Amino acid sequence: MNAPAPIHFHANVRRVVANPALRASFRGAMDFLMAKRAVQFPDADAFEALRTQGEQIRQHSLSRLPDLLELLETNLVRNGIQVHWAETPDEACRLIIDIAARAGGNLVVKGKSMVSEEIELNHALEAAGIAALESDMGEYIVQLAGEKPSHIIMPAIHKTKEEIARLFADKVPGVDYTDSVDELIQIGRRVLREKFRDTKIGLSGVNIAVAETGTLCLVENEGNGRMCTTVPDVHIAITGIEKVVDKLEQVPPLLTLLTRSATGQAATTYFNWISGPRREGGGELDGPREVHLVLLDNGRSGAYADARLRATLQCIRCGACMNHCPVYARIGGHAYGTTYPGPIGTIVSPHLLGLEASADLVTASSLCGACGEVCPVKIPIPDLLLQLRQQSQGHSAAPLLPGAGSGRKTLQSISYALFAWLYSRPSLYRLFSLAATRLRGLTPSWQGPWTHSRAALRPAARSLHERMKSRGGSPG
Ligand code: SF4
Repeated sequence: MNAPAPIHFHANVRRVVANPALRASFRGAMDFLMAKRAVQFPDADAFEALRTQGEQIRQHSLSRLPDLLELLETNLVRNGIQVHWAETPDEACRLIIDIAARAGGNLVVKGKSMVSEEIELNHALEAAGIAALESDMGEYIVQLAGEKPSHIIMPAIHKTKEEIARLFADKVPGVDYTDSVDELIQIGRRVLREKFRDTKIGLSGVNIAVAETGTLCLVENEGNGRMCTTVPDVHIAITGIEKVVDKLEQVPPLLTLLTRSATGQAATTYFNWISGPRREGGGELDGPREVHLVLLDNGRSGAYADARLRATLQCIRCGACMNHCPVYARIGGHAYGTTYPGPIGTIVSPHLLGLEASADLVTASSLCGACGEVCPVKIPIPDLLLQLRQQSQGHSAAPLLPGAGSGRKTLQSISYALFAWLYSRPSLYRLFSLAATRLRGLTPSWQGPWTHSRAALRPAARSLHERMKSRGGSPG
C-alpha cells in the first residue's frame, strides 16, 4: 500500500472559513444537535453514572480484546456467520470483492458504514467492475454529489435542502426540482427500493459485536440497514476489531448512550440483532443465505498496544465530540480531509494514517475540553491529543506511532531550544527582558500566520519583575 498522502488541513481550513454560508450551516446544525442531546440528559448525576458505566464496559472489553475477538469468532462461526480478518484496507477490500464475485453480483447496496469509507470500498468495488450504491439517505446524497461524508452520523449535514433539491433534479433521472423534504425522501426511497429488489449483496457496518452470543448489533433510523441485511442473498458486515463487547447485558447501556449522544433520541427507530443467516432447515423464509463479517485492524492493534493511547478504541462513534467542538463547528468535516473528522478524527487518524500524514490534525484543537466532557464513554480526548502532539514532535518514549517526530519544525525547535537555554540562566534572562521591553518599538508588525487574524505580539513596556517591584512586591 502507498504511504497516505499528507492532509492539507490549513489550506482546507482557509477555503472553508472564507465560505460564510457553509459556516452558518454548520453552526446551525451543531446548535440543533447539541440542544437535542441536552434534552436527553437532563440530570447531570444520572448522566455521569451512565457515562461511568459506559466507560467501564468499553475498558473491560479492551482489557480482554484478544480473548473476546477469539470468542466472538467462535460464536459467530457456530451461528453460521463467516469471519474474515483484514489487517489493511486493501485486504478488506479484496475480501469483500471476492465475496461479491463469488455471489455473482455486480451491485452492492450499502447501509451506513464508516469503516467502508475508511477503506474506500466504493472505489475498490468500482475498479473491480462492481457498482456500490449507498442506501442511507445522507450517504446517498453525498454519493450523488461525488463527495465524502462531512459528519460520521449525518454525512450530508453540510448541504442545504435547496442544494439537495438541485442535486436530485440534476442527477436522478425523471426528477423535477422540489425542495419539499418529504418529497425528496420519497424520491430517494423509490430509487433505493428498486435496487434492494435487484441486488444479491448487501453491506452494513456494525455498532456492537457481542462475543458471548456471536451477535452483531446495528442501529439505524431509516430501515435501509434492515433492508441491506435481510433482503439480498448475501450480507457482508464490516467493522473495526475494537467494536466487540463481552456480554449481551452490556449492550443496553452502550446503546442508550449512543443514540442519546448521537441524535438526541432515547432509541433509534430500528435496532437489528444479526445472529446468523436464514435457517432454511428451520423453516425461516427471510434473511440472507450467507452472512460474512470482515474484522478490520488498520492501525487499531497499534493503538491497543500503547497503554497511553488505548482509550482511543473506547469510541462508540456517536459524534457528540464533533457537535460540541468549537473547531469542527466552524470548519465542518471536509476540512479535516479524513474519514473521521472532528475530535475523534484527530485522535483516530494518526493510527490509521501515521503521524506524518496527520501531523496538522493533532494541532486542530483548542484543548477547551468540551469533547472530553460530552464523550459518553469518557475518552480523555484532550489528554490523548497532547500525547499525540508529543509524539508528533518526537518528544515521547516508545512505542511510537509511524511518523513520530515528523511534526517538528526546525525554526520552532531552535526557538524553544534558545528559550530553554535563556530561561535557565536568570541573569541573562533578566538582561534579555530589559532589552526586549526597552526595544519593543522595533517589534515587526508581521509575525507570520499569527498576524493573519491577530494583532502583532509585542513585549510589555515593563517586565513582570519591574511591575512587582514598583508595587512593593517580590517577583519570587
Ligand atoms: S470520542 Fe466519544 S464523543 Fe467522540 S464519537 Fe467517540 S464516543 Fe462519541
